[in-house]
This record gives sequence, structure tokens and C-alpha cells, in this order.
Amino acid sequence: MTTTPTEGGCFCGALRYRLTAPPVGSMVCHCATCRRLFAAPVVAWLSVASGGFAFTRGTPATFSTSAPVTRWFCPACGTHVAYVHAGEPGCVEVATCSLDEPSAFPPTHHSWLSHDLPWVRFGDGLPTFGGSRHGASD
Ligand SMILES: [Zn+2]
Ligand SMILES: [Zn+2]
Repeated sequence: MTTTPTEGGCFCGALRYRLTAPPVGSMVCHCATCRRLFAAPVVAWLSVASGGFAFTRGTPATFSTSAPVTRWFCPACGTHVAYVHAGEPGCVEVATCSLDEPSAFPPTHHSWLSHDLPWVRFGDGLPTFGGSRHGASD
């Protein structure tokens, strides 16, 4: 399988997607929802215009962590690759590390430090925000 920085998918490959527009945001989320859903200390996200994201293989299963949020994950291996928020219909949030080359999209800030675990330390010097940088839900 050839990889490009703008393609990604789930762990098993049943679900693949392509970005056709450059992300408009890139951040690391420290919120409790991301932590529990991914069972990981933090989760990195890209914001992409809706028209710039398309699944190219497979059909995602969906799960809602809260009423306005629809999360897309692989029904075979369980990887969560993206979500949409009804309050921000123009945007798809893509899990940065589901991309083939997540190194191509470094984060610009950290959000939801108010939920952070006390032992998470980055030291990358990036700006941090107690909630969402934009004031909307992450
Ligand atoms: Zn999969
Ligand atoms: Zn989060």
C-alpha cells in the first residue's frame, strides 16, 4: 500500500480516507472524553473542511459520546478515525494519528488542560488552553 501524508485509516485497513484540503487546525486534546474513548492520555486532532474529507474504503460504524457528536470508527478493529459535531457542520475532526504520516501535521496548541492528568508532561512549548481554543466543544 502506498502512503501519502493526506491519506489515513484504521489499524486493520478496512476503513480508509483521504484529505483533499489542508487542515485548518491541528491540536492535542487533553479532555476526559478523548482520554476515555481512546484509552490514551491525550489525542491529537486535525480540523478539516467537510468537503476536504472522504472515506475511500469501508463504511464507518458510528458512536455518539454526546448528542451533537457523531464519531466514525472501524467496525472490525475499533480505531476511531474522525468525528463531526452538529454545531460545526462545516468541519470534520480527524484523529491525527490515524493518518499514514501524522508527522506531516504537527500540532499548534494543546486544549482542555483543565481535564489533564497530573502526570502528562509535554514540554514542547506550545500554547495551552484550559478548554477549547475556540470556545466550542472539542
Ligand atoms: Zn479497522
Ligand atoms: Zn478531547
